[in-house]
Amino acid sequence: MKFDWLIVGAGFTGAVLAERIASQLNQRVLLVEQRNHIGGNAYDYYDEHGVLVHQYGPHIFHTNAKHVWDYLSNFTAWRPYYHQVLGVVDGRQVPIPFNLNSLYDLFPPRYADSLAEQLLQQYGFNVKVPILKIMDSAGSPDLQFLAKYIYDNVFQSYTLKQWNLKPEELSPAVTARVPIYISRDDRYFQDSYQGMPKLGYTALFQNLLNHPNIKVLLNTDYREIIDEVQYQRMVYTGPIDSFFDHMHGELPYRSLRFNFIHDTSKLVQSVGTVNYPNEYDYTRITEFKHLTGQRCHGTTYIEEYPEPYVRGENIPYYPIPKDEYKALFRQYQQEAERLQGKVIFAGRLADYQYYNMDQAVARALSLFKKTICEGEADTVA
Ligand code: FAD
Ligand code: UDP
Repeated sequence: MKFDWLIVGAGFTGAVLAERIASQLNQRVLLVEQRNHIGGNAYDYYDEHGVLVHQYGPHIFHTNAKHVWDYLSNFTAWRPYYHQVLGVVDGRQVPIPFNLNSLYDLFPPRYADSLAEQLLQQYGFNVKVPILKIMDSAGSPDLQFLAKYIYDNVFQSYTLKQWNLKPEELSPAVTARVPIYISRDDRYFQDSYQGMPKLGYTALFQNLLNHPNIKVLLNTDYREIIDEVQYQRMVYTGPIDSFFDHMHGELPYRSLRFNFIHDTSKLVQSVGTVNYPNEYDYTRITEFKHLTGQRCHGTTYIEEYPEPYVRGENIPYYPIPKDEYKALFRQYQQEAERLQGKVIFAGRLADYQYYNMDQAVARALSLFKKTICEGEADTVA
């Protein structure tokens, strides 16, 4: 069969590109996915107890990009949802990101007053300060104590569990995702647009891909069919080192093992996620009914156990943001450039970037507009 495009991977990056190409350029797309479902790591399904769960870990949608929100809103309605996380510190569950409420939960009121006052004086109100920055900049002995306290109790062991690295061994952007927030706002994200797809992510993907120009082939590694399919151009959203047969060595990834547990209670925890920086081998527990708002008997929650990525054995969930790996990624990027646009690389694994879902969508939309449409204009001219 003849196609204009072969797209590898039915996650957000591949599915959005397929939708744009099919609907805006009226070209035919073969979307090939090695798993037995669409949706990539955002895939959700109803478990045997009837609870809507996320197979590859909890996914909460949030963005400041209006164009991304508006675009996805063509394919789903939203359930308003503001994610909340508590972290177990010194035996208490306190808001994460660590904020002024966390401070008052952990310290005697007068000392908390004094620490809050000093934080406000040095950094201002409603300001987010990454832990590594506060460690370097805390001006008074009290704030230095607080910075070290938060580092030791919230970041150090969690980061070691999650990455097998200390916070300062990773790109500072990693721990800056969860800054100290000088505010009383207990939400995990402050983005302008936040919510969960009303009928779930898989339904959103079904709508994205419901177009006569898109054919989806599941359970298929693209290498199995590449010699049999006729196509003009290719988009690849899998791991970039794998595409080039690891010719420069393997890019490192971090993996996870998930333990799903069902309980007959209505709910087992008070918020969507509870983080365990210092106890247990798992980093966090997320209870899906908080996210989805589903009303049903019983509840299902998930424990996340970080583990090393071993090719062929588990899934490369996280690129590891570290300078030395960026240099290795650049070698693969140069190989990609040699293909002169015949294969386009994009997505969390092909760009080797710690993208959230909205960033993957934004990347796909921008690629479509700037590279694919302009390429089309050149061809036509
Ligand atoms: P993917 O979703 O990984 O899709 C790539 C697809 O390509 C996969 O389905 C894969 O099977 C397929 N593929 C790879 N190689 C081949 C091949 N050779 N042949 C055929 N198919 C192939 N983001 C948020 O915004 N909010 C969250 O709360 C959030 N939580 C997360 C929690 C976890 C545990 C993880 C791991 C990620 C989370 N993310 C979250 C990030 C989100 O999952 C990604 O941003 C998004 O999935 C990236 O989409 P993608 O299409 O680039 O990649
Ligand atoms: N982090 C931490 N303690 C926490 C929460 C986060 O040390 O209680 C650090 C850890 O290094 C983690 C990073 O901040 O990997 C980013 O956290 P986020 O919740 O954004 O991770 P993700 O949801 O992408 O796994």
